[in-house]
Amino acid sequence: MKCMYCQGTMKRSVSSFHISRKGYHLTLDEIFAWVCCQCGESYFEETQVEVIQDIIRAIEERTEEVRKAAIEERAEEVRKAA
Ligand SMILES: [Zn+2]
Repeated sequence: MKCMYCQGTMKRSVSSFHISRKGYHLTLDEIFAWVCCQCGESYFEETQVEVIQDIIRAIEERTEEVRKAAIEERAEEVRKAA
């Protein structure tokens, strides 16, 4: 396997994954990845990508519930204040 940027050699390693979305920030440590020896570019394995996507899907569903509850709570405070 060669790096698609610099054609350097890729070696199996462990990397971390980070994503920031509205309502949550997610960092996963120790994800198997291929890392370029030359430029440091990393690629996640297909199976790992699927797992990460599952996690993100679950988080988005649950954070949506949490955010809705928070918004309703804030609306209630506004009503009380008025
Ligand atoms: Zn490279």
